[in-house]
Parts: sequence; C-alpha cells; structure tokens
Amino acid sequence: MIHTPIPVTRSSMPPYEEYIREIAPLWENRWLTNSGTCHQRLERELCSYLDVPFISLFTNGHLALESTLSALELTGEVITTPFTFASTTQAIVRNGLTPIFCDISPVDLTIDVNSIERLITPRTTAIVPVHVYGNICDVERIQEVASRHQLKVVYDAAHAFGETLNGVGVGSFGDMSMFSFHATKVFHTIEGGGVVCHDAQLLEKLAALKNFGQYSSENVAETGGNAKMNEFQAAMGLCNLRHVDGEMEKRRKVAAYYRARLEGAEGLQLSPVQRNVVSNAAYFPVVIDERYFGEDRDAVCTRMGEGNVFPRKYFYPLTSQFSCYAGKFPVQETPVAAWVAERVLCLPLYADMTVEDAAYVCDLLLEGRK
Ligand SMILES: *Cc1c(COP(=O)(O)O)cnc(C)c1O
Repeated sequence: MIHTPIPVTRSSMPPYEEYIREIAPLWENRWLTNSGTCHQRLERELCSYLDVPFISLFTNGHLALESTLSALELTGEVITTPFTFASTTQAIVRNGLTPIFCDISPVDLTIDVNSIERLITPRTTAIVPVHVYGNICDVERIQEVASRHQLKVVYDAAHAFGETLNGVGVGSFGDMSMFSFHATKVFHTIEGGGVVCHDAQLLEKLAALKNFGQYSSENVAETGGNAKMNEFQAAMGLCNLRHVDGEMEKRRKVAAYYRARLEGAEGLQLSPVQRNVVSNAAYFPVVIDERYFGEDRDAVCTRMGEGNVFPRKYFYPLTSQFSCYAGKFPVQETPVAAWVAERVLCLPLYADMTVEDAAYVCDLLLEGRK
C-alpha cells in the first residue's frame, strides 16, 4: 500500500476565522500598505517576542537582507558561507560586493570561525554568517574577529526565528540580523522578512531603503527600492505569532522522535544539540556518509520519493557553484562545505506532522542500510 505523500515542509496556518477577523477592518479603513495598523502592531509584538529594540518589516527576507547590506554602506569583500540558500550570496553580489567563501564547521555546518581570519584583506568590510538550520553560529568568536578588524557582522537568521542562546534572543548578535517570514519558515507572513538593528538611525535608513529612498515625500536621500510589507501579510503574522510557540513545540516532538530513532545509526550524522540553545526545530538535516551507510544521498532521496516521502537536498549545490558564478569560486577552497553538500538531506518536518509519519520516514530511510 502506498503511503499518502509526505512533503519536506508544510506551512502553518492560523484558524481561518482568526485571519478573517484580523483583516476585516481593512474593508473599513482601506489602509492596505505603507506601515498600516497591522504592520505597526506586528513590529511591536515582534520586538517583544524576539527581545530586540528595533525591527523593520519587509515584503520578503531576501530584500530585507539586500537592504541591510545597503544600509551599512559596505564595499569590497564580504566573508560568508557557500552552504546556504541562494538568497545570502545573491544579496551580497546584488549589492556590488564580492563574496569570499569561508569553509564550514563539519559539526554544526555554520561558518568555520577558525578559517575567517586568514580570508580578511584590506578590502574586507563585513562578515555574513548564517545560522544554518537554526544552528547558532559561534557568535562570540565571530564578534571577536570582527571587532579586531573593524568589520560589520550581518547574520542571515532566516532559519533561527525564536531561538535563544543563554537566554538571549538570537537577533541580539552582530550589527544586524535578517529573519525570513516566508511561508515555509517556522513563523511566517506568507512572504515576508524583518531586519533587527540596534539603533534608531539605522531603522530610519531601512525605512527609507524599502520605500524608494524616501525619508519624506520631498526628501529622497537613498537609492532605495520598494520592499514594504503589506497589511494582509502583517495580519497573517499577527495570527501566526499567537500560535508559534505551540507550533514549535509540535516540531520539537517530531525532531525528538527523529533523533531518538536515528542517533547512532551508522553512516548518518545529525546536527548536534547545541548547549544553552533553545532550538526552534526548523529543520532536520542528516548527512549520509555512503561508505558506512551503504547507499549514497542521491539514491536515498530517489528511493524515499518512490515511497512517497520527499526530503530535500538542502543545500545542494553550494551557492559558490551556481552556474551564474561558473569558474569564479573554486570548490576546493571550501572542502568541508563541498563534502557536506553532496551528502546532506533534510527530512520532512512541519508542525502538523504526526509521529506515525515520522516513523514511516525513518523506516524508509533506514531500509537503505546494507
Ligand atoms: C528563506 C531564506 C532566505 C530568504 O528568505 P525569503 O523570505 O524567502 O526571501 C534567506 N536566507 C536563508 C538561509 C533562507 O532560508
């Protein structure tokens, strides 16, 4: 008997009636975008939830990141990781900056702090690390390196919504952090994103950058675009924020089941449980070493698909190996990232996934072992 399909992810949704209640006033006030009342409330509620002083909302996470790099007026080279979603690298390049790819830690797959310093040149202006899969980077040592060389630090925190390290919200680290509120993320506004910053001046600059560079209708002082979040997005965010703790708790149950079933399986490497971190259980990546597992990642992925389970090769390929960058970034310079990208697979994980489904995913995955 063929199992009902299990996708890699499935968006959380608030109760239908709750969303309708939230958007109903828009038919009265007709304030649909440009920092309307839902937008203002969502900003306040997110600052409090994330425990950060300022957040600027955007129509998506990618434009939020592009605007962040622009707000800091970076030039030259930016040290970053190739083991990430396309957005991180594209935001750097679209700002006219040169990405310098640093290798990753073989353990938590975030940027390898020990490799950053030797990539710094007189042209380096920033480090853009990624809290990949919600694994929090070594924020303390990254800050040490950055401070020593007077570099900015911008975190791609797209995967890390709601996480804390030693009780401190993950958005508190670095100069600025970008969160994605895309439909597939732990917390979403359908499409959306936010930038956390720590001073009011940068906040104002971000507001101008996402609104055609306008500080007011007669003062256009930035080369800005249009990246504003609208009221329907913000309303979805207000609803989802009420439920996000419960949704994360459900995700953690599935992740805990996966861990219990898969920990110690030969040839499978799981992400470590980070000390002093409250995880959001956004993703469950496994790195499959074919020498010990007996089957390689691509074969596992195909075979699981035949069983109606659809894990995702996330992240593959490395961003440095995209065809738009052909010949520019030798893969040998980031050997760990290259090795992992060929072997990583993200297992299905979403809040309303049942433990029975997770059990079926594990049965199917482990069948491949010789
Ligand atoms: C989702 C994501 C983004 C961009 O987010 P969008 O909101 O989809 O534009 C950036 N970086 C990473 C690592 C992501 O996963």
